[in-house]
Amino acid sequence: MIIRSQPVGLLSVGLSSEFVSGILDRARWPLLAATFAAGVGIFVVGFIIARQITSPLEELVQTATDVTAGNLRRRSRVRSKDEIGLLSVAFNRMTEYLLHLIRQFAQVSGQRAAILDSLSEGVVVCDLYGRITLVNPTMRRLLNLSAEAASPQHFAELPLEPVTERVFNKQTDNLYALHNRILRVRGSAFTVSGANEGYVYIFQDLTDEVNIDRAKTNFIATISHEMRTPLTPLRGNLDMLRSGMAGTINDQQRAMIEDMRLQTSNMTRLVTNMIVVAELDAGALNIELEPTQVKPIVDKAAWPLRKALKTKNIELQIDLPEDLPMVLADTIQLRTIMEHLLDNAMKYTDQGSITVRGRQSDTHVQIDVIDTGHGIAPTLIDRVFDRFVRGEGDESNNRADRGIGLGLSIVKELVEYHHGQIWVTSQVGQGSTFSFLLRCANVSSEPDATSTTVAA
Ligand code: ADP
Repeated sequence: MIIRSQPVGLLSVGLSSEFVSGILDRARWPLLAATFAAGVGIFVVGFIIARQITSPLEELVQTATDVTAGNLRRRSRVRSKDEIGLLSVAFNRMTEYLLHLIRQFAQVSGQRAAILDSLSEGVVVCDLYGRITLVNPTMRRLLNLSAEAASPQHFAELPLEPVTERVFNKQTDNLYALHNRILRVRGSAFTVSGANEGYVYIFQDLTDEVNIDRAKTNFIATISHEMRTPLTPLRGNLDMLRSGMAGTINDQQRAMIEDMRLQTSNMTRLVTNMIVVAELDAGALNIELEPTQVKPIVDKAAWPLRKALKTKNIELQIDLPEDLPMVLADTIQLRTIMEHLLDNAMKYTDQGSITVRGRQSDTHVQIDVIDTGHGIAPTLIDRVFDRFVRGEGDESNNRADRGIGLGLSIVKELVEYHHGQIWVTSQVGQGSTFSFLLRCANVSSEPDATSTTVAA
């Protein structure tokens, strides 16, 4: 014991161990029970608080999962006023809006599907690589597909055969045969947000129209041939009558015979034109392109006109240089071209001259038929190569030798079958120049210097 920093003695106290351990023994169980109760209490309170926070979140997560899985009727049931409650309301609104959009989308796409289904044209939609993504019912019918049969996977698998015959007076490159039908195919690219997404093809069934057109062509061909048959003996008999072989004729009879001869040759020309047109349409015209001298053909075409030209006092000049290269042409058809152009030049020229001029122009020979005749009205000149187009309102309407407007259309088609071009320049009252180009035969790189059958 220390008092004022001085150790003054030693104090000792003794307690029995019973005194310490007895207190501890008495307090142990109440302490353990209190600790356990506090632990359970903390756990229960914590659990309740945690449940209050997590269960709305769980509900939201479950709702989102259900909506994503397609259950658009599912709504969050969290109704609390806190942030989670607000989130739940926003989520439900979003789902409503989504449902509204989906309904709208379904309505629009349903309408479009109904339109596609009711179209009388076949429709095929492809992606950029030609893989078919949609075939409408009309197209399935055209393809003879049963309800269960799968559509072709790729556009190239469609059994389409190009139709190369001339239909509706022209060569079309978009007609195809599919089984026993003739279809016009039109394709176009479609874009989504400016990007090319694929192609849509429309198949229009023209079988009936094509069959009618074929029947018309056959009818014209048959009738024309039938009409031409009696014209040859008729002309022969008239020639015999005129020459006096069947007895002497007086001037009046001669004039009548001359008139009949003129009408017969007009009819023959008309019927011949119709036969050529029918042959062109049916693809029955055989064109042999071979190296050909122009001069002999021009001479042959001009020969039958010499008398008429003399009567009309029209001079015919043939201006073809000696060294004019040979052209790739079918001799018969080139003669037909020249005959038509010279015949027209003579018909529509009353005075002056007709010149046939040939010049080499690069890989082609340009042939011009120049006349000093009536000229062609500006309103007519753009259509002059179309079928059944002829000058109206001038004195040519009443001419005995006027045609039905087929001559120049035949000329144009024949020139095109020679891979050439034809055009006309004209001034009313001053004359016309019909020009066409034919390939030179010596241009080795030029294709098609072979026999060509006009596509059927
Ligand atoms: P057509 O049988 O009526 O002569 P074409 O097709 O040969 O038919 O000619 C069509 C029309 O073009 C003619 O009716 C005529 O008006 C005009 N035409 C053709 N060639 C000439 C020409 N050389 N001069 C003036 N007009 C022409």
